[in-house]
Amino acid sequence: MIDIKDKHDCCGCTACSSVCPQKAITMKPDDLGFLYPKVDKTKCTNCGLCDKVCAFNDNYDKSLNISEPIAYAARHKNMPEMMKSRSGGAFAVLSDYILGNGGVVYGAGYEGHFVVKHKRATTKEERDEFRGSKYVQSDLSGIFQQIKEDLKEGLNVLFSGTPCQTAGLNSFIGKALRQNLYLVDIICHGVPGAYVWRDYLAYLEKNYKKEIITVNFRDKERFGWKTHFETISFKGFDTPKSFDNYAYIFNSCATYRLSCGICHYTNLVRPSDITIGDFWGIERIDSEFGADNKGCSLVLCNTEKGKKFFEIVKHQMNTINAQLKNVMQHNLYKPALLPKYRIDLENDYSKLGFEKTMKKYGLLGIKKSIIIEKKQAKRFVKKVIKNVFGEKAVEKVKKIIKV
Ligand SMILES: Cc1cc2nc3c(=O)[nH]c(=O)nc-3n(C[C@H](O)[C@H](O)[C@H](O)COP(=O)(O)OP(=O)(O)OC[C@H]3O[C@@H](n4cnc5c(N)ncnc54)[C@H](O)[C@@H]3O)c2cc1C
Ligand code: SF4
Ligand code: SF4
Ligand code: SF4
Repeated sequence: MIDIKDKHDCCGCTACSSVCPQKAITMKPDDLGFLYPKVDKTKCTNCGLCDKVCAFNDNYDKSLNISEPIAYAARHKNMPEMMKSRSGGAFAVLSDYILGNGGVVYGAGYEGHFVVKHKRATTKEERDEFRGSKYVQSDLSGIFQQIKEDLKEGLNVLFSGTPCQTAGLNSFIGKALRQNLYLVDIICHGVPGAYVWRDYLAYLEKNYKKEIITVNFRDKERFGWKTHFETISFKGFDTPKSFDNYAYIFNSCATYRLSCGICHYTNLVRPSDITIGDFWGIERIDSEFGADNKGCSLVLCNTEKGKKFFEIVKHQMNTINAQLKNVMQHNLYKPALLPKYRIDLENDYSKLGFEKTMKKYGLLGIKKSIIIEKKQAKRFVKKVIKNVFGEKAVEKVKKIIKV
């Protein structure tokens, strides 16, 4: 029977609660809104299925992976389509094909007041809600069972999500039904808890005394692909407003799920048929390809099925073959480094709430501005020393003043 003693050991994929024949497991939120399994011992028969299905470990299923992924830089040929997507539009091309052939697509959309939740789409209009990165852990409740039903009915299913979600789903579905399931994972830096996002929106609504009507976690239209600002529209304001608050909190890694700090999938043996991400460093292999700052996908084909699938749809994208050594980025090597105060922050959150906690840890307000200014000043001094005395001098100064 699943028993999470250390929260680092559970990524919240819901495979255990989905597999339990007694419906003895419910997913319960912690203080940041991360869901963890809770077993009703009066219902449990100790069958062991929940322990067996859990794939958040180094032994996740790698049986379908080819020796090394085939990598591409890829951009949708249709520019308006690419602009609707976070990166180069790879997800749109893959999901268009599945939908065009009578299949169904699962991805992260919204429910209620911008609660991020996985949903099912059978049309491109429904699927479009999944486009764009939502920097918060999506709720998978009920989704794995729904996918199993679709597969049993013989439908082709494309599931897109974080690697821990694809690994959990793969384990839950099992080999017999895997044939018609297309797993697409994203390169994943980590996910903040649902309450942090909910409470940030409430904080903005309180400050502006207006209801939020649209959100864009990372506004590529206004700021370009490489920059990270969120854009929010309020009822009664003609133009949307952009902020760096949530982006800053996200990039600090301070509100990530604890499992993100020990993630088992930050490597090239991906728990999916195809991996999609941002092709950071595209300029190193082609100075023109992503130079307009409108987006460029990194596509990794991880299985024979993934290879064939991308071959079929790739004519809709401009692509360049890439060598693996040129595609590597932080989360393909190692997990995100969570700050030392991560646990303290969680403890404070339940007592102090969003605004006071974020201010306390310098993630909002005046303390944040001071930290940013200090960092900018350091960067400026470093640049001056480097330009005047060279790179070695920077290292010497670093050692002396320990920065
Ligand atoms: C939390 C998070 C962290 C990321 N970290 C990195 C990173 O470190 N490096 C990197 O290269 N790329 C990262 N990405 C992936 C990248 O930002 C793009 O999502 C990806 O390249 C797909 O772009 P696209 O243009 O093909 O898809 P789009 O058309 O923009 O579609 C978005 C896709 O992402 C999925 N998705 C969106 N939000 C979530 C979510 N919360 N949980 C699960 N799935 C979601 C949707 O289901 C859909 O498949 C991250 C994405 C998220 C959501
Ligand atoms: S051991 Fe079996 S019955 Fe008990 S919680 Fe796990 S899956 Fe359910
Ligand atoms: S990682 Fe998934 S399967 Fe494992 S305990 Fe957590 S929710 Fe359950
Ligand atoms: S970093 Fe790893 S554990 Fe965290 S959401 Fe991403 S895939 Fe899951």
